[in-house]
Amino acid sequence: NADSAMYEAKHNGRNNYSFFSADMAQQSALRVAIERSLRSAVGTDELTLHFQPKLDLSSGALLGAEALLRWNSPTLGIMAPDTFIPVAEESGLIVPLGTWVLEQALAQIKAWHASGMGWLQVSVNVSAGQFWKQDLPELVANRLRASSVPAAMLDLELTERVAMVNPQEGVLICQRLKRLGVSLSMDDFGTGYSSLSYLSRLPMDVLKIDQSFVQRLGDDQHDAQIVRSVVQLAHSLNLRTVAEGVETTEQHRFLQTLGCDQGQGYLFARPLPASAFAQWWQEHLARSLLQPFS
Ligand code: C2E
Ligand code: MG
Ligand code: MG
Ligand code: MG
Repeated sequence: NADSAMYEAKHNGRNNYSFFSADMAQQSALRVAIERSLRSAVGTDELTLHFQPKLDLSSGALLGAEALLRWNSPTLGIMAPDTFIPVAEESGLIVPLGTWVLEQALAQIKAWHASGMGWLQVSVNVSAGQFWKQDLPELVANRLRASSVPAAMLDLELTERVAMVNPQEGVLICQRLKRLGVSLSMDDFGTGYSSLSYLSRLPMDVLKIDQSFVQRLGDDQHDAQIVRSVVQLAHSLNLRTVAEGVETTEQHRFLQTLGCDQGQGYLFARPLPASAFAQWWQEHLARSLLQPFS
């Protein structure tokens, strides 16, 4: 039950990355505990952003990074985003939390630039509450102005489900975001239920192919066909494609032959704390001068 789960988590939490399953988080006692702890965590160093590189699959060039939220709670242990983001959504905490993520991401873009590493585009995940329970274009405009980061350095990742809550209004919000000059990515593509005609009406720049398709590449012909047609569809709509969850060189080569533009995954790097990311970036640059990317 939730009480003993809490007890266990308290004592083993730090070594137990996914002790809390999404199912357990549905239990109300645990939800309440997560919500309470999360509320006091916003704005403290319990929460940090990690960054995972996005690479050009043919040249190996670094094209950007995705910001992924990490939470190390002193009472609950290390919590996975798939566990606490849904709680943040239901409690409305996602709005202040999401604003904090946006501010941190912009501050990091600026800090890397200031340290002489150049501009790097950072992708920030946006969930339904952030998109629908506030004026997101207004918030983004405001934070871009305050940070003086060029709008093109910010990419917002939305899932199909987010925009589909209200398709007509979703298109309008995306259009307002695009007018600010930010980039928009469709995250987890293939897991939702949006129609192709709807996708063509959304002003997206990038389509991210869900990792479930990528993981089955190689042993499933059917999935290769799906990826191939998604890439073709995306290109016909002038979208670039990013494969998520690339773990093996075999998947990498497969994706290249299927025409996929970019990739992200453990094969290249795990999500890293900002300082480790900067280190990885330097080493990646040095490596790419020495040897071609396969
Ligand atoms: P997502 O946006 O689809 O992020 C991709 C997930 O795949 C991340 O999980 C990442 O760590 C993981 N991943 C990357 N490469 C590989 C790989 O090669 N293999 C495997 N198996 N996994 C890989 P993570 O960090 O646990 O995040 C899970 C989800 O939580 C994200 O899915 C996103 O929907 C949500 N999330 C994370 N950070 C934020 C945030 O700041 N705000 C919001 N609203 N949602 C967030
Ligand atoms: Mg994402
Ligand atoms: Mg994704
Ligand atoms: Mg996901």
